[in-house]
Amino acid sequence: MTDDSAPPTVLDVVNALDRRYPRDWAESWDRVGLVLGDLDHEVRRVLCVVDCVPETVDQALAERADLIVAHHPLLLKPVSSIAPDTYKGRIIHRLIREDVALYAAHTNADVANPGVSDALAARLDLTDLRPLVPATGAAEGGGRGLGRVGELPEEMTLSELTGFVAERLPMTMGGVRSAGDPELAIRTVAVCGGAGDSFLGDARRAGVDAYLCADLRHHPVSEHLANGGPALLDVAHWATERPWLDDVAVWLRGEFGLDVVVSELDTDPWTGHARAVPDLPQQKETQS
Ligand SMILES: [Zn+2]
Repeated sequence: MTDDSAPPTVLDVVNALDRRYPRDWAESWDRVGLVLGDLDHEVRRVLCVVDCVPETVDQALAERADLIVAHHPLLLKPVSSIAPDTYKGRIIHRLIREDVALYAAHTNADVANPGVSDALAARLDLTDLRPLVPATGAAEGGGRGLGRVGELPEEMTLSELTGFVAERLPMTMGGVRSAGDPELAIRTVAVCGGAGDSFLGDARRAGVDAYLCADLRHHPVSEHLANGGPALLDVAHWATERPWLDDVAVWLRGEFGLDVVVSELDTDPWTGHARAVPDLPQQKETQS
C-alpha cells in the first residue's frame, strides 16, 4: 500500500504482485515476474493483457500505460539476442524506449487462489470450487492448485452447456467445441485456463460430467472419451484466460487506487472459421 499523495513505483506494484502471485509458485520451467522496466518509475496506469504482442504494446502506448501486467511470459525460452530486428527484440526495445514496464504472472497465477481458473469458473457461475489438481510444493494448501471443479447452478445438457459457454466467455473465431453425447446431463464441471490436455486423467478421476479447457487435440480427446472420461469442451486459449484480467484489475485498483485498463484486444491467433453446410441425409445415403 502507498500513501494517497504519491503514485506507487514499479517496484511497489511488482512487490505487491509478487505477494499475490509468489514467483516460487510457478512451475520450474516457467519464467515469471518483472521482465523489464525502471523500478523507480511511477505507475499511474496499468494495462492487463493475456499476451504481450505488438498489438497490445500499441495499446499500452496509446493508453499511456506505465506497466503491462501480462499472463504469458514474453521470454519463456532463453535468447541470445534482443536485437531490434527480431520479433521479441522489437517489443523489448519499444517498451524500454517508451518507459513501459512489463510483468508476467503465469503458472503462479494459475495455481493461486483466486487464480486464473477461478475467474473462468466465475464466468460460468460455478460454485463450491475446489482445485482440479491441488498444488504441491511452495504453493501447497490454501485451496490452491491448477484448474477448478464446481457445480453449475442448474443441470443442463452438454449441448446447452456448449451454448452457455459461448455466451459467457469472450467471443473468438473458433467458438466453442464439445465432445460427447449432446444430450448428456451436466452438473459438475471442471475448468482449466489455458492448455488442458495434461489434466484429462485428473478430470476423469474427479468424476465430473464435463471438462472445459483450451488447445485440445484429436488423439487425446478420442482416447479420453473411449476410456469413459467426461464430456469435453474446447475453447480458445485466450478466451479461457481473459476473465482473469478483470480479477487482477479489480485487485490492483483496490490495492493502489490505480487506473487499470483491461485489454479487450483478442490475441487469439485464429482469424477465420468456416463449416460446410451438411449434406441432406438422403444425399448421404445415395453417395454411400
Ligand atoms: Zn495460457
